[in-house]
This record gives sequence, structure tokens and C-alpha cells, in this order.
Amino acid sequence: MTQPTSTPAPSPEGKACQLHPQSMCPAFGALRVLTRIEGAHPVMASDTGCLYGLKFVTHFYGARKSILAAHLGTEELMAGEVVEATRAAIEVAAQEPGCQLIPVISLCVAETVGLPEEMLPKRVGEAEVVLVRVPAYAIHSHPETKDVALAALLGKLGSPPAERNGRTLVLLGEVFPADPLGIDGLLRQMGVEGTISLPGRSIDDLRRAASAGAVAPLHPFYKQTLGVFREWGVPVAGGAPVGISGTYAWLKAIGSLLQLDPAQVEATASAERERAQAMLSALPLSGRILVTGYEGSELAYARLLVEAGAEVPFVSTSIGPDPLVLPDETWLRARGTRQVVYRKALEDDVRALDEYQPDLVLGTTPFCAIAKERGIPAMYFTNQLASRPFFLSTGMAATLSFIRDALGRAERYEWMRDFFEGEEAARG
Ligand code: SF4
Repeated sequence: MTQPTSTPAPSPEGKACQLHPQSMCPAFGALRVLTRIEGAHPVMASDTGCLYGLKFVTHFYGARKSILAAHLGTEELMAGEVVEATRAAIEVAAQEPGCQLIPVISLCVAETVGLPEEMLPKRVGEAEVVLVRVPAYAIHSHPETKDVALAALLGKLGSPPAERNGRTLVLLGEVFPADPLGIDGLLRQMGVEGTISLPGRSIDDLRRAASAGAVAPLHPFYKQTLGVFREWGVPVAGGAPVGISGTYAWLKAIGSLLQLDPAQVEATASAERERAQAMLSALPLSGRILVTGYEGSELAYARLLVEAGAEVPFVSTSIGPDPLVLPDETWLRARGTRQVVYRKALEDDVRALDEYQPDLVLGTTPFCAIAKERGIPAMYFTNQLASRPFFLSTGMAATLSFIRDALGRAERYEWMRDFFEGEEAARG
């Protein structure tokens, strides 16, 4: 039985507000990337309210590093002390043992008040100072702030060398830790000499990225970062090693960009295609799935599910439309996906739930809660799906096994719905 929805009411115009991302503060993406770098001691230019929430979230995700911050309450902001307070915090960060990099993360309030870059030091002692501007009113999703942070770092630390290592590839995107290792292993079979994973923990990787023979975005929202690589003259490989056709095409594209031996590339790509085909035959999907998240990688996941036999009528994501996402969108629409929503709101997802009556939902926490109220199996996109291997045939196996298992849980979700309905009825 379909339950009444707890959907937030739409605005008087009938359309949900698109200004707010309906997720955590977008700056979290940038913070996550910057705090993970070894030898980096971030300084946050923000008011104390934002600081409290962001520090909590960052520590929750295991950065294990203090974030220094300018003390900016109402009094300091009124007195115009943003620059002085930020400079003071930078001086403290530079005293941290082994500090080589001080990212200054300027958030909504500091950006509104004004933080001129020329009034900050470029370097303090051994540490480079890099200003990263991530006001949430201009950058609407946390994946996109990862891009802004990485582009700022590369712009400051990287410079194209006189000679490139034509057989090195940059893999761009925060993915499950085993994925870059698997991709690296396969690429080496084709003749690639090494890969650099960004964003990562190493400052040296940021410095040497400009010398790579090509860059491959595994996620489609690294727009500004790719702009930096293009300025350096580093070619960009489209697509990602996802699914049967996607992986084969991606390996061939890398082979062509890095001018590898075509026979060796074909042999490796064909063998991987066969493994992927075997995996797909062993783990076929059947059922209707909604793919809704705010990670920016939703279209690639939907593509894999469709290739495995699922029906995916609706996909939504927090990132904006971009040429990088277009191939996946076109591919999906040609195979029955009726709606792809960018900059989505919870209301968009709930409308899809009403319309498509899915067998499984992959979504954000609030959306999954609504699906569960209706007795529909629902898995959190970020914590349960995006936190396991995804790329190549090995990632495919991990992801498809998980989805098959989730699709088989319908009875248990219906039982939970009926149980809680009974509890509510008993309370009267
Ligand atoms: S005001 Fe801006 S920086 Fe602060 S928590 Fe909200 S979105 Fe994030």
C-alpha cells in the first residue's frame, strides 16, 4: 500500500527552491580534499557557525587534523577584520611541524565580506599559501567544490615541464581506494608506465601532474581542473572504465592518447571486455531502479545498471549539466531513461517515486527514508554504493552483487512498513 509522502511543500510557484543544495554545506567537498593532503594545514576563513558544523563533518570523515580558523564572529566582521584574522591564522598554521602547504578556504561569509588575495601572503616559511574560494551561493554542490579546490592547488603548485612523461596518466576523481590500483594494474599491461591519482594525499603528485601524458576524469565534474590541464597542453580522455562498452572504449582511448602499441592495447581491452561480459552474465539485474544522489557520479552508476539489465527511468544528481556528463546522458536516454535531472531537489526525487513505483531506490538519506516509509528497498548512494569498488570488471562485480542483494529485500521492507503501521495504529 502506498503511504502518504512526507515531501516538503513546494514553493508557491509549485517549484522547489533551486538555490539550496539540500545537502551538507557544499564546502565540505573542498575541505575533505584539502585536509587529506599530507603536509597541508588548512585555514578556514568563515564565521564561527559554519566552522562548528564543518569541523564536525570533517573529523567525522576521518581527516584527523585540526583546522585552524580566523576568529570571525559578528563583532570581528563588523569591524572589518577578516584579512587580519585570516593572516594571523596562516601564521599559526605555518608553525605546524612539516607544514608545506596552507590552503585558505574562504567560505560564504568571508567571500561576502571580501577577502582580497593580494592581501594574503603567497608563502610563509616553507609553506605555500593557496586561496580556495568556495562560497556555497556560487558553487552549489559538494562535488563541485572538490574541483575548485583541486584546480586552485594545481594552478599554484604545478607547471608544465620541458619534457613530458608521455606514458603517465592522471586519474581524476575520489574513488574507492582499490579502484585506482586495479586501473593502474590493467593500464600497465598496455604499456602505461605509471598513474597519478588526484585528489590524493601527496603534494608531490600535485607538482608532477603537469608532466603526465594525459588526464582521465573518472567523475564528470572536474571542469575547472580540466581547464588547468588544458592550459598545460595535457590531453583529456573522455568516458570512464565503467561497464562493458564503456571500459573497452576508455582503454582504447587511453591507448590512442598515450600512443601505446595498438596490438597490446587491443589484447588488454578485449580480455577485460570478456571478463566484464562474463561478470554481467553471472550477475544480471531485473527490476526498476531510481538512481538519485548528490555525488555527481550517478549517471555512470545508472549506465552500469542498465547494461546489467535493470530499468532506470529516472536519474538525478546535484551537479549541473556539462559536456562531460553528456555522453552518459545520451547513452541512458537511448536506452529508456526518461528523465535526467541536474541540480535536483528532494521534491524532484519524490515526484519520480510517485510516477515510476520503483523496486529499488538509490538515494540521499531523506529520500531513502521516504522510500522506506512506502516499503520500497532503499540504499544510501554515498555510504552504501559509492563506498565500494565500481570500475572495471572487478568493481562491476562488487556493485552488481550489492544491487542484486538489495533488489531481493522487498519483502523485508514491506514487513517493516507493515510493522510500523501497526505500531502507529496501536498508539491510536
Ligand atoms: S553559510 Fe555557507 S559556508 Fe557556512 S555552512 Fe552555510 S553553506 Fe556552508
